[in-house]
Amino acid sequence: MKELLLEVKDLSVFYTIKSGEGFFQNKKIKMKAVNKINFKLYKGETLGIVGESGCGKSTLAKALLGLNKDLSGSIVWLGKNIEKQGKQEWKNTRKDIQMIFQDPLASLNPRMTIGDIIAEPLKIHFPNMNSKELKEKVQQMMQKVGLLPNLINRYPHEFSGGQCQRIGIARALILEPKLIVCDEPVSALDVSIQAQVVNLLKNLQEQTQLSLIFIAHDLSIVKHISDRVLVMYLGNLVEIANYEQIYNETKHPYTKALMSAVPIPDPKVEKNKKIQLLEGELPSPINPPSGCVFRTRCPLADEECAKNIPMLQGENEHFYACFKVND
Ligand code: SF4
Repeated sequence: MKELLLEVKDLSVFYTIKSGEGFFQNKKIKMKAVNKINFKLYKGETLGIVGESGCGKSTLAKALLGLNKDLSGSIVWLGKNIEKQGKQEWKNTRKDIQMIFQDPLASLNPRMTIGDIIAEPLKIHFPNMNSKELKEKVQQMMQKVGLLPNLINRYPHEFSGGQCQRIGIARALILEPKLIVCDEPVSALDVSIQAQVVNLLKNLQEQTQLSLIFIAHDLSIVKHISDRVLVMYLGNLVEIANYEQIYNETKHPYTKALMSAVPIPDPKVEKNKKIQLLEGELPSPINPPSGCVFRTRCPLADEECAKNIPMLQGENEHFYACFKVND
């Protein structure tokens, strides 16, 4: 039976921002960046989260790591609501949930050697570990992620972008977590390096039964790593399904637009493919559209879409928020 690690129930995440212009920028507004999202994550599974910049996916990731406290709903980790955890319990949970960041170089402290960067979480959680043990563990981990152990005393600027991301992965893995939240981990890397990093994560996952939440802004990257895919638009979950269903039985018009941009390996098919361009900008979450959040850019939108909010519907673990799917 699949082991449930994480359950997110009706999760909304808020930001307080200042509105007005220049000197008059003093009015505070509470903005809902994530709106009532529900999903589950099982041991060894990868959930891809996809959507345009500003759709709330990184905000969601930060909430899972306890970095955004202004929220409603619940985040349940191994059966316990993380909001209700005390300091020590939360410290143990954070040991199990690690993160890999988008910009590999910027996420590493330039004044620390990579050995110290990778060892830092160990020093926090195992303060009695001696320096010999620390060095051994760090070098083992460096080897695991494809870095030469004798580079332990080098600094981040001496490494390429792909190598820096390997350092970030080593740091995230050193505590043997159960889940790694990967926030656009390959978007700052060259395409050839992207594949290497994705393959590395897949291999590590096979060895350790690790679960991953893999955030990206397009479906082509999550395609190679995800068991299930969650599509977000303007803070809302618009479609969630397993990998095959999302790619072969796409339901929501927004997912269809994202799908049309995924390159097809056959040059003939790719050449004749019709890309469904989305018109207009992503609306502001401060003032979202009435009814369906996607209606201002949806080619199928009609009056009903402006009046009513589509609820998630579907079957066989494939759910989507749209009135027109079966029309
Ligand atoms: S509910 Fe209407 S606006 Fe929303 S995605 Fe479906 S057709 Fe488009």
